[in-house]
Amino acid sequence: MRTNTKLTGRVIFKGKPGYEAARKNWDPHTDRFPKVFVFAQRTQDVANAIKWARINNVPIRPRSGRHALEPNLSQVNGGIVIDVSEMKKIMLNKKNNTVVVETGNRVGRIVDTLARQGFIAPFGDSPTVGIGGITLGGGIGPLQRTTGLISDNLLELEMVDAKGRVIRANKKRNSDLLWASRGGGGGNFGVYTKYKFKVLRSPAKATVFSITWPWEQFEKVVKKWQVWAPNASTKLGSELTVGPKRGGNVSMLGLYLGSKREALRQLAPILRVGTTTKRTIRSLPYIEATKFLLAPDPVLTQKFSNQFSSGFGRRPFPNSAYKVMREFLTKAEGGTPAGFFFLNWGGAIKRIAPKATAFYWRNAKFYVEWNSSWVKPSHAARNIALARNTRKKLQPYIVGSYINVPDQGIKHSGPVYYGKNYPRLRRVKAKYDPKNVFNNPQSIPPAKVRI
Ligand SMILES: Cc1cc2nc3c(=O)[nH]c(=O)nc-3n(C[C@H](O)[C@H](O)[C@H](O)COP(=O)(O)OP(=O)(O)OC[C@H]3O[C@@H](n4cnc5c(N)ncnc54)[C@H](O)[C@@H]3O)c2cc1C
Repeated sequence: MRTNTKLTGRVIFKGKPGYEAARKNWDPHTDRFPKVFVFAQRTQDVANAIKWARINNVPIRPRSGRHALEPNLSQVNGGIVIDVSEMKKIMLNKKNNTVVVETGNRVGRIVDTLARQGFIAPFGDSPTVGIGGITLGGGIGPLQRTTGLISDNLLELEMVDAKGRVIRANKKRNSDLLWASRGGGGGNFGVYTKYKFKVLRSPAKATVFSITWPWEQFEKVVKKWQVWAPNASTKLGSELTVGPKRGGNVSMLGLYLGSKREALRQLAPILRVGTTTKRTIRSLPYIEATKFLLAPDPVLTQKFSNQFSSGFGRRPFPNSAYKVMREFLTKAEGGTPAGFFFLNWGGAIKRIAPKATAFYWRNAKFYVEWNSSWVKPSHAARNIALARNTRKKLQPYIVGSYINVPDQGIKHSGPVYYGKNYPRLRRVKAKYDPKNVFNNPQSIPPAKVRI
């Protein structure tokens, strides 16, 4: 290792102009005071930054879209943030149905670029999430029952390892790293700079829907949704949100990859529940449908801090789980984005075996997450406790947790995030980062290697 390695790219040390803007993450609760930010312009800048960090003994945090949901993942006090967000090339190969993206792209930019050219890129509920982080943890959203997780479409990758070497992985070369990068989570093995995905042709049109109910009807709606949504056509993706008791409502957003007539038939059972207060069901050109679902979500204007927790439902909640939901929603702060969120599972996700990629939780009926939310730092402790205590109470009704929506209150979290894939992930970690250079509060420790 050369000792004169210099930082290259756009470099901002603490106290220099641009530092305050550089340290603004989506969730203010995750902002820290790193020693330096390196905004890499090319892969070599990443390699130089890693070498510099190791020589100077500075902890590293890779960063792409700034949407980390727990502290100390993409920023750390006194550390170096290797930020790839200015590496944004997108190269679509229409002949091979593949796209190569640099990891600094935000999901919305990829969705938009591909939709204009007649292709689908899977997305979640926010356009500003970074493709860098979302891919590594899985990448869930309303198209997943057709396309699979974002990571299920990952064919190849480029990553810079702890020695500053550029590693490429695909089915033939370093296939264990590809396996681990499809759901193993960010910040574990190195800094990723490029992903190659397979892509599907988009339909000319899709039907989108946005339905709301009064908060008081949440139990009825969620009950029906939990038996309806996982069994609806796999062309239908549905996100169901229940807000706080004070000022919240129940809302369902989603899409159906087909005509409005078929969509209405699919939606009929859920539309019969309770009294809807808003029903928008529209057939739109595919690109407009993506815009409908991906409302603007700028990073710098966020004022709410959040504590999330997540899991997977294998069967509909019993009445006792609704009691827990009600208690949480009653205590959650009004006028905030706190609440419960459900997404239907099945289809393409289930067709892949749990051990075929690092993403383990494939046999569920639905995904569930909940978050408390606050503005004043003095409200943090009680809201964090609220979300974490709710996890304890919901534990009998859920399995696992989603690494991209983590909860650092989970003890011995490895098997919770990765199920039976955890031991293999630790072996891959031992191979690619044996000294645990890439670590964070929830990263995978290397397996102990016998000499
Ligand atoms: C508003 C919002 C909506 C969301 N919606 C969804 C959704 O619909 N579906 C879903 O699946 N998830 C969703 N998430 C969760 C999201 O997938 C994770 O927060 C994800 O880790 C964010 O990635 P990022 O690159 O934006 O974040 P960052 O804060 O930049 O990074 C997050 C983690 O990934 C690591 N990482 C980032 N880039 C790299 C890289 N290039 N190399 C190595 N490690 C890297 C970081 O070190 C960190 O550990 C949402 C999050 C938010 C805040």
